[in-house]
Amino acid sequence: MGKMPILDPTTARAAMGRTSSRRRIDLQASSQGRITPAVIPSNNPFRETAISVLASIPKITRFSMNYVRGFLAGIVMQDQALIPKFKELSERAVEIEKLDVPFGNKYRVIQAQVKLSFPKESRGALASKFLRFGLWIADNAGWAFYLGYKIGMKEAAKRFIAGENLDQAAQTIQTVHRKTGVGYIYDVVAEEADSPAAAQANVEGYLTVLRRPIIGPEKVVSVKLTGLVAGFDETKIDEAVEVLKTLAFAASQNDAVIVIDMERYHIKDATLTVLERFMEETQYKYGNNVGIVIQTYLQDSLEDIDRLSKLAAKVYHINDGNSRLFVRFVKGAYQSKDKDQVLPNHEAVNQRYIDCLEVALREKEYYRIAVASHNLRTISESITLANKYSTGEQQDDSNIEFEMLLGMPAAPILLGLAAQGYNTRFYMPVGSFGDSLAYFMRRMEENANSSSCQMLYAEYSKGNLSQKTFLDLAFTPVRSNGVTV
Ligand SMILES: Cc1cc2nc3c(=O)[nH]c(=O)nc-3n(C[C@H](O)[C@H](O)[C@H](O)COP(=O)(O)OP(=O)(O)OC[C@H]3O[C@@H](n4cnc5c(N)ncnc54)[C@H](O)[C@@H]3O)c2cc1C
Repeated sequence: MGKMPILDPTTARAAMGRTSSRRRIDLQASSQGRITPAVIPSNNPFRETAISVLASIPKITRFSMNYVRGFLAGIVMQDQALIPKFKELSERAVEIEKLDVPFGNKYRVIQAQVKLSFPKESRGALASKFLRFGLWIADNAGWAFYLGYKIGMKEAAKRFIAGENLDQAAQTIQTVHRKTGVGYIYDVVAEEADSPAAAQANVEGYLTVLRRPIIGPEKVVSVKLTGLVAGFDETKIDEAVEVLKTLAFAASQNDAVIVIDMERYHIKDATLTVLERFMEETQYKYGNNVGIVIQTYLQDSLEDIDRLSKLAAKVYHINDGNSRLFVRFVKGAYQSKDKDQVLPNHEAVNQRYIDCLEVALREKEYYRIAVASHNLRTISESITLANKYSTGEQQDDSNIEFEMLLGMPAAPILLGLAAQGYNTRFYMPVGSFGDSLAYFMRRMEENANSSSCQMLYAEYSKGNLSQKTFLDLAFTPVRSNGVTV
C-alpha cells in the first residue's frame, strides 16, 4: 500500500462510467427532457453553496494506482445482479487460500465456481469486455485466472480499505492527510463477534489502535457494539458499558474520540441506553471522548435526537461547558433489512436529515456535529443551515464537520470541503482482505445502487453533464431510491 487509495474523479469515472443500462436510461431520459429538473432560482442559497464547493475541488492526477483500483471496482459494481456472484467467488477464493492443498486443486475449485456463477450462455449479456475476457481465461487457463482474480479483487478492495494491518493504514492515513488535508476515522473491520473470544479480540484491536501514536490529524475511531460484545442486545447493556469504559479510558489518554456506530433497528434503543448508562456511571467525564451516530432515515429519528440532546445537555453542564458530545448524522445503511422502521422514501429521508441536524444546531453548544453524507445537496443544505445558526465567531460551535466513506465516487467533494477549511474525515476501515470482504461488498452494493446525486456527480466530473444540468438534477427531489423521477 502506501499509495493514496482514493479520490480522483477519473476513478469515479472508471467506476461509474460502467454504469448499468438502467442508469444510462435515467440520464438519457434527463437529456430528452423526460425528467424535469426542479426549477431552482439562481439565488437559491443551497445551489450557491454547491457551486462554491465544486469550485474548490482541487485538480486531481488522472492516472494512478487508484485509477486502476477504481476500474477494477467498476467491473464488480457495473451491475447490481453480479455483485453476489463476485462475493461468492471471493469468499471461495479466501476459503481455499487458507487450505493446505496443492495449487492445482485450488484453481480448479475457482474454475468450477466461475462456471457455476457465470454460466457460458449468460456471458453474452455482460457489458464489460474485460470481464468477458477474464471469464474466457478462467475457462482456458484456470491457474492464471485464480492468480489474477486474487490480486485484482484485493486491489479493488484497497480503494475502500485503508490497509490490511495498522502499519499500512497508518501510512495511508498520513499520505491522504499530507496530500489533501483530510483526516480519518479508524475502523477495525469487525463484523458481528460470534463468540466472547472474537469480541475480546476486537476489543484488543481497538485498544491497539487507540494506543498507537499516529502522526497527523486527530484520532477518531468508530466502534460497533455487536463487534465488542458477542450477541449484543438489550440483555447485554452492562457488558457493553464495561467494554466502553475500557476503551474510553484509552481514548482519553490518547486524545481520541470513539464514535459508536448505529446498527440494526432492534438494537438502536439498547445502543443509546449504553451511551447514557456509560456517561452516568463515569460521571460524564468522557464527554469529549465518546460519541454516537444517529440514523436519520428512521421514523424515530427526531425522538432519537431529542433523547440524545438531553444527554448532551448533561454532558455539557456537568463539565462546565467544556464537553461537547460528538454526534454523527447518517441516513442509514440497513434500509432493506429495517424497512418497516425507515421513512417511506428517499426524499423524506433527505428532509428528515436536515430536520435532525437543525435540532442539534439549535443546541449547538452541546454538540460537535459531523455530517456524514456523499450527497452534494444534503451537504449544501447542511452548510446553509449551519450558517443560519452561526454567530460568525471563529470558535463558533456551528462549524460542522464533514465525513465520507473512503473510496466513494463523491470523495472529491470532500476534498473541496477540506480546501474550504472545513474539518473533514474519511472513514478508513482496516482489516485483512478476508475480514473486510463483507464491508467491501456492501460498498459495491451501495455504489451500484448509488443515489442519483452521487451518480450525477460522477457523470458531471466525467464531463457528461454541464454544471447547470448536474445541479438542476441534483436538487430535484428524489421520490424513489436512486432515481430522479
Ligand atoms: C463516516 C460515516 C459513518 C457511517 N456510520 C454509519 C452507521 O453507524 N450506521 C449506519 O447505518 N450507516 C452509517 N454510515 C453509512 C451511511 O448510512 C450511508 O453512507 C448513507 O446512508 C448514504 O447517504 P448519502 O447521504 O451519502 O447518500 P444518499 O444517496 O443521499 O442517500 C442514500 C441513503 O438514503 C436512504 N434512502 C434512499 N432511498 C430510500 C428509500 N426509498 N427509503 C428509505 N430510505 C432511503 C438510505 O439511508 C440510503 O443509504 C456511515 C457513513 C459514513 C460516511
